[in-house]
Amino acid sequence: MTVEVQPQPGEGIWSLLRRSGIDPTPASVSSFKTLNAGKLRNGTELRRDVSYRISIRSLTEPLFGKEYETVLFKSDRLKGHVYYIVGGHGGPDPGTLGSIGGKQIAEDEIAYDTALRLARELMMDGATVYIIVQDPDDGIRNDTYLPVDHDEVYYGNKKIALNQISRLRTRVRTINELYDKHRKTALSQQVIALHVDSYGYRVEPQVDVHFIVGSNRANSLARTIRNTMEDKYRHHQPDRGYQGEIKHRNLMLLRETKPTAVLIELGNIRHSGDQQRLLKPSNRQTLAEWIKEGLVREASGRST
Ligand SMILES: [Zn+2]
Repeated sequence: MTVEVQPQPGEGIWSLLRRSGIDPTPASVSSFKTLNAGKLRNGTELRRDVSYRISIRSLTEPLFGKEYETVLFKSDRLKGHVYYIVGGHGGPDPGTLGSIGGKQIAEDEIAYDTALRLARELMMDGATVYIIVQDPDDGIRNDTYLPVDHDEVYYGNKKIALNQISRLRTRVRTINELYDKHRKTALSQQVIALHVDSYGYRVEPQVDVHFIVGSNRANSLARTIRNTMEDKYRHHQPDRGYQGEIKHRNLMLLRETKPTAVLIELGNIRHSGDQQRLLKPSNRQTLAEWIKEGLVREASGRST
């Protein structure tokens, strides 16, 4: 789609593009010049009294819900990279349950909301994204309490089975079929699964975002995301500290999927501190953005 934008005093093309949500790269600047040929002074300067056309590429993903379904492209920095985003659990399996103030909260709903936010962030930077667990009527939700429902399905409208083994098999098969389709052309393919478990611990301890991997290449991807997260915390909450860990576990999703797969535990759903952190929609958004930054670092070859 194309929008008309009026320059602000002293504004140049770069800043006009950035203000319009577009990364000012040589390519986007040159397409701006083509679209506005004849309106620029000396072929490069903006005139205050003229409005300029900006072409904004977008896509529509109804799974994000009415408010978020239009996704505007910001950059091409993840072009060619394929991501399989898995909100942990879903369908008949709500994952780990917790409760706060007498209200029940379910792992799969928090994981799914964060997964949608992550998927949308990746798409904005040009990635190819498959949302593996899908809920037809829960878009991105700015609610504190996300009611538990059971209508999630797998990509391709496949039923999520009650039986755990068959459920995981379908998940792995769905991802591997898509992997084969992209194998020849993709720059990279990665599975990011989001969970909010409470492994073995009942209530304690509070845990930072941590990572579970099943291979060395996944370990290296997890390290990049972990270090990005540490940098973000250091920058935004310098006194907080960050204790994110990377653990190896022999899980089917990690072992049998062909892309590099990392399972990210966002917190302990039974710990009140983690609950407070994850119930807040803006925190789920921030986590999604930080994980995305980690994936961008990985894609650009900056490993730390
Ligand atoms: Zn889980």
